[in-house]
Amino acid sequence: MNVLAGKTALVTGGSRGIGRAVALRLAADGAEVAVHYGGNEEAAKETVARIEEAGGRAFAIRARFGDVSATDQLFEGLTAGLAGRGLDILVNNAGIASVNPISQVTPEELDRLLAINVATPFFVIQRALPLLNDGGRIINMGSTASRFAVTMQIGYTITKAALESMAPTLANELGRRGITVNTVAPGAVRTDMTAGYNSLPEVVAELEGITALGRLGEPEDVADVVGFLAGPQGRWVTGQTVDVSGGTYLGPIARG
Ligand code: NAD
Repeated sequence: MNVLAGKTALVTGGSRGIGRAVALRLAADGAEVAVHYGGNEEAAKETVARIEEAGGRAFAIRARFGDVSATDQLFEGLTAGLAGRGLDILVNNAGIASVNPISQVTPEELDRLLAINVATPFFVIQRALPLLNDGGRIINMGSTASRFAVTMQIGYTITKAALESMAPTLANELGRRGITVNTVAPGAVRTDMTAGYNSLPEVVAELEGITALGRLGEPEDVADVVGFLAGPQGRWVTGQTVDVSGGTYLGPIARG
């Protein structure tokens, strides 16, 4: 399925976890993928190598979000890699979590959450606009945390709600160019971000208990939805949040 042949994509935080699965999926669909990473060069190289081994094309770009010149660095690497071509797909996936109740969230922690989860994708989109081809795609990685209360994640929650709020306005602004803008909102997915609890059987059982499909998500569960939105079949979906959580916390689940 080479539906993205000839297309280019940037996946922030594409070195591991959900971002890696997205990079692999877009490359498998034929896109050349810029794999952005913050610090783990090994992981980024492995993502690129896996894409190349499968016959795809990719290159890595380092930029530590939160550093003053990070966006400049990202776009220097991106324009060099694109070598005059435009960008077709932007996936703002990089993000950080927080596990504190409001009483323990420091101003520094909140600043960092806002900087990496909100301000960075905002300015990445701003910088990407001149490069973005008509018919392009912007996909932001939200979270079900903006739909229901999650204990100890208030700082994270407000950043994901802010990120999610960008899509409708941007969709209106960019729609006449055929560019779609959507948010993908995963529930709990097995990655490094959730490693603190996804190995605890009692927590996993609790999460499975509130999920219609009865299990935690895998990065590929999310990547396939990003692939759909990024591809031609996603052309008529814009300004939306797509919940990708296996039906987490929909309401009471009848046992019997
Ligand atoms: P992860 O920790 O494995 O990956 C996070 C990615 O973001 C990494 O590639 C990391 O390098 C990058 N990143 C983090 N801080 C950075 C910085 N300062 N500079 C540059 N890059 C940085 O986690 P993941 O679960 O794969 O998360 C990916 C996205 O999915 C995040 O936005 C996260 O909020 C979101 N999400 C995850 C879950 C989940 O359960 N895992 C659920 C909902 C949403």
